[in-house]
Amino acid sequence: MKYISTRGQAPALSFEDTMLTGLAGDGGLYVPEEIPMLDVEAIRAMQGQKYEDVAFTVMAPFVGDTFIEAEFRALITKAYHGFDHVARAPLKELDSDLWLLELFHGPTLAFKDFAMQLIGQMFQHVLARRGQRITIVGATSGDTGSAAIEAFKGLDNVDVCILYPHGRVSEVQRRQMTTPDEANVHAIAVDGTFDDCQRHLKDMFADHGFRDDVRLAAVNSINWARVMAQVVYFFTSAVALGAPDRRVSFVVPTGNFGDIFAGFIAREMGLPIDRLVIATNQNDILHRCMQTSRYSKQGVQPSISPSMDIEVSSNFERALFWAHGRDGQVVAGLMDDLMTQGAFSVSGNAMGALADVYDSGMADEATTSAEIGRTLAMTTELVCPHTAVGVHVARGRTGSDPKIVLATAHPAKFPDAVEAATGIRPPLPKRMADLYDRSERVTRVENDLAAIQTLIREKRAE
Ligand SMILES: *Cc1c(COP(=O)(O)O)cnc(C)c1O
Repeated sequence: MKYISTRGQAPALSFEDTMLTGLAGDGGLYVPEEIPMLDVEAIRAMQGQKYEDVAFTVMAPFVGDTFIEAEFRALITKAYHGFDHVARAPLKELDSDLWLLELFHGPTLAFKDFAMQLIGQMFQHVLARRGQRITIVGATSGDTGSAAIEAFKGLDNVDVCILYPHGRVSEVQRRQMTTPDEANVHAIAVDGTFDDCQRHLKDMFADHGFRDDVRLAAVNSINWARVMAQVVYFFTSAVALGAPDRRVSFVVPTGNFGDIFAGFIAREMGLPIDRLVIATNQNDILHRCMQTSRYSKQGVQPSISPSMDIEVSSNFERALFWAHGRDGQVVAGLMDDLMTQGAFSVSGNAMGALADVYDSGMADEATTSAEIGRTLAMTTELVCPHTAVGVHVARGRTGSDPKIVLATAHPAKFPDAVEAATGIRPPLPKRMADLYDRSERVTRVENDLAAIQTLIREKRAE
């Protein structure tokens, strides 16, 4: 299996190199050259199987010969061992034909653990085999950083440095990043915004001397291996509700488009998915694009669902690539327009291709808060604000197919918003109930690239 860039100008790579590289050299994102199909019998055989076994069937064609079967099965088992629910991604019924797919039973209480835990295992295996040591640097508004730290802490061949905006992440998110005491973990609080952190990260990758010196690697949401790991729970949940003999639709709380694009891959592999529904908060650039064919930046307004507060939805580029008949030159042109004019227009044909797969909906702040309250009153379930955006959009839809809403985080990860909506402060799961008692370890740094680079060199040498 080879991987090619969405902008058509970078060399094709193996799975192993795609995973280690992250972003393609032409600024594009790597995608599989072709998508493997699973036939009806292979999908039916998943009924009643363990999550780990379905995971192997779904992902094996994508990893090619990077791992032999026994190795890959062992990595999958280790990745999901620390989840506190044996089903890994259990389904819960909310209403008739409305289901919640709980993706928050991993170590940091958000769906990012599904991909990050597996990536941690795969990186470790590949680096040990190559005799290499790397430095993973990430910028986070909260969830990705904690998931990366949990996945890479204590691994021999990796240092992990996470930049987050000082004072601008929730207390739970901060403590998840600052309390692990493994020596290879470095939480770095930058006196700036999330956008500053992301800009510094980009500049570090552009600084080839630094990049090669510390052997910089990235695990942000454009890494293909993350999308791949997220394809699995679309299969397990659809099969639990009757696939391949029954169609289902998914409603996906969306920011960077990684999760919902994994649903698209599942659909291309042969899973009978009717609609993939993009659910956005008030930062609704994707919803507006689906309605008007124009993707146009207006600035980000902070919301109670902060992990969806974006206006450059990186993985949407992958969807555009398919919608334009996999023409990298056209995609490169759109991304140029976005950079120079803050907007691009999608052609009629491409919009038609998107509309064949995706619908969209939006929930503003008041609606999201009201939905948390309504869901509690109707079902006794507490949902996080991101999930509530999805539940609201799902309730507004008609049609007889079962609808599955991805529950992307545990309510205790966003206790203030949940308490404001319901009067109930959701408790942390037992296994991390002492999070508020553990001691924190973090280095604060000025909002300056050179200062951050010096710090990373020092931390690495320790
Ligand atoms: C990251 C995240 C999202 C958005 O997912 P994308 O793959 O970026 O679209 C939604 N909810 C939560 C809780 C998240 O952490």
